[in-house]
Amino acid sequence: MAITAIKGMSDIYSPEVEVWQQIEEKARQLFARFGFRELRTPILEKTELFARSIGEDTDIVQKEMYTFPDRKGNMLTLRPEATASIVRAIIQHRLYNVPTMGKFFAIGPMFRYERPQKGRYRQFHQVDAEVVGSKEPVVDAEVMYWAMLFLEEIGIRDSELHINSLGCPECRSPFRERLVKYLREYEESFCKDCGRRIYTNPLRVFDCKVEKCKEIVKGAPKVLDSLCGECKKHFEKVLFFLDKTRCTYKLNHHLVRGLDYYNRTAFEIIASGLGAQNAVGGGGRYDGLFKELGGPDIPAVGFALGIERLLIVLKESSPQLKIGVPDLYMIALGEKAQEVCFSIAQGLRKKEIYVEMGYELKSLKSQMRRADKFGAVHVLIIGENELEKGIAILRNMVTKKQSEIALDEVENILVERIKKESE
Ligand code: AMP
Repeated sequence: MAITAIKGMSDIYSPEVEVWQQIEEKARQLFARFGFRELRTPILEKTELFARSIGEDTDIVQKEMYTFPDRKGNMLTLRPEATASIVRAIIQHRLYNVPTMGKFFAIGPMFRYERPQKGRYRQFHQVDAEVVGSKEPVVDAEVMYWAMLFLEEIGIRDSELHINSLGCPECRSPFRERLVKYLREYEESFCKDCGRRIYTNPLRVFDCKVEKCKEIVKGAPKVLDSLCGECKKHFEKVLFFLDKTRCTYKLNHHLVRGLDYYNRTAFEIIASGLGAQNAVGGGGRYDGLFKELGGPDIPAVGFALGIERLLIVLKESSPQLKIGVPDLYMIALGEKAQEVCFSIAQGLRKKEIYVEMGYELKSLKSQMRRADKFGAVHVLIIGENELEKGIAILRNMVTKKQSEIALDEVENILVERIKKESE
């Protein structure tokens, strides 16, 4: 039996891979406009890194990590998200000391052992952004603006920004008390996990997917009502700057995110067409994470967008992006002609022209059919006769007009013509 890819992990190929490339390219361009620098980390890390940062009692750490011992018995984990690795790298290389570096981005695969369904995979890809070193609310607003602008620029216009504040450890403790008091009234009705969470990590009850738990938390107290003066001021300022960006947003009192390291601002971006997995991205502030991971006390804020989900939304809302069409398709008829075509093709490619070539020495008809499939407008044909005359035939597949070009001028004439057309 043939070997297939692992369940929940996909091969990405043309024409879809071209859409991926365009999304990644757009992200890189937009990151550059905001001064972000790329940071590439390994996809394997010590398990402890994720357990300590994401939180022992989260779904990710409890059930979803790909964790295994290496040959020496060291426990390793395929990264389920990017922030923890980025923070580890910044601490390890003391990048927080470099004055021109404070904004980092990463694009790459993440791994979670979840039950695969539409928009949920075991290997998925994220565009990730982290801004390190500032507590200022203007930064929270700016990263949200980046995400919303990015969606707009790739053609997703009907997304919604949901936002909440989770407060700081000081205001969270009275809130926790109020929350536990409320949750305990329903103790018998919760699912098994939430029954435990009430005592271990009550905020996690908010992201339980079980219907009856979701119903109960609808009436739960709101974090916003328990914010301390400083956190309240911070949140108001975030909204103030967000208003300046003209992004519309919704306050979502029960948004807590699925990871423990967040404090103050938390947000998610919801898009239509995704079904149950309706968040294309999410993020927030994590002022305590650097210290938690053994680094200096540095505030930070960031987010991640899921590329697969962006693609689903794009597919449902707009036509596929067009894939590259060759500037020239070359047809050789006979071995001698193939040698000449081969040299011309390499010369043109060196001059930045996209050339496709029929590698098999098939009939003119069959090679023309292949050129058509590529959507090529210009086709250059060289056969024995043409070689004898020292010419090549240039055919326009749309107008069906043909002209002759001297072989020793082919390169220059085509470069000029093709470049002119693409202006
Ligand atoms: P999270 O930090 O878990 O909220 O993830 C951020 C974003 O990554 C989500 O909004 C999704 O777009 C994407 N994402 C998370 N988990 C998966 C998954 N299993 N499959 C596909 N995309 C995912």
